[in-house]
Amino acid sequence: RDISEQKAREVELLELANTDMLTGVANRRFFYQRLQEEIRRLRRGGRREARSALLLMDLDHFKRVNDRYGHAAGDEVLRNFARLARQALRQGDLLGRLGGEEFGALLAAEDAAGALRVAERLRRGVQQGPFSTQAGPIPLTVSIGITDLQDMDQAPEGPLKRADSALYAAKRKGRNRVC
Ligand code: GH3
Ligand code: MG
Ligand code: MG
Repeated sequence: RDISEQKAREVELLELANTDMLTGVANRRFFYQRLQEEIRRLRRGGRREARSALLLMDLDHFKRVNDRYGHAAGDEVLRNFARLARQALRQGDLLGRLGGEEFGALLAAEDAAGALRVAERLRRGVQQGPFSTQAGPIPLTVSIGITDLQDMDQAPEGPLKRADSALYAAKRKGRNRVC
């Protein structure tokens, strides 16, 4: 019996299980899994391995977007942001939606300086918006926290916490910035 159809269905289901339904990017579970794998790879390979960088991105004052333009328009903004972020990344990078209006990116073989350039370009692109939606053009900014993966990292929690601290600093300093 030809099982290629069944195989294709399995691949489809697996993709579905790893995907955020609203934006089409990786979901939280898959993003964590990949981050964990990346940490393991670095630990096995030691210093010879190229580091990766982690970005945490949180849309600024997103509650206001919902309040002002409605939840459906907010959803459109999330989809638009995901598309823009995907364009800012390279093929081997991973973009994930980690929560409501929070996204993560794993930048392959990119040190903090390189990641900073990528993040800054994306931040500027979002600011230059506005995103066009059914409710009209919506201006938006994003705050981004960056860390590089380090030798001491053993689990996703470490780098996620550092990136989150950097993101918090970006918010505290007035938003629409990269730290
Ligand atoms: P800050 O600049 O401090 O990040 O402010 P904020 O308003 O973005 O922060 P907060 O976390 O308080 O609000 C996030 C909002 O995102 C609240 C929630 O209504 C909205 N949100 C979360 N998930 C979704 C979603 O799937 N669709 C839409 N439209 N809104 C969402
Ligand atoms: Mg948030
Ligand atoms: Mg926010």
